[in-house]
Amino acid sequence: MSLQCPLCHSPKIASFHHAMKVGAAIGTVGGVARGVSAALASGQAGAALGALAGPVGITLGSLSGTILGGLAGGAGGCALGAQLGESLDRHVLANNLCLLCGHRFNLA
Ligand SMILES: [Zn+2]
Repeated sequence: MSLQCPLCHSPKIASFHHAMKVGAAIGTVGGVARGVSAALASGQAGAALGALAGPVGITLGSLSGTILGGLAGGAGGCALGAQLGESLDRHVLANNLCLLCGHRFNLA
């Protein structure tokens, strides 16, 4: 995709994507937190299942449930945060800078 300055139609545009990175970071943290709470629940379910197989089963069941839940939550939160950040980029922040005339503008 090639950008053009809406004022002088110069194609020399610098784009910033701060909001997207911040959004992804926030989403990752939020997703991990959500994943951990979901993971604790699935860890308990795993432990309950593992209890049928004895003490080793309890440990394996709760561990794998916690790890899987945390990973899934973190990945989902990161994708969500990136989407949020991108829509912020597009609609709120003027993140494109014309290198010719210095005009800042959003994506059309
Ligand atoms: Zn310009």
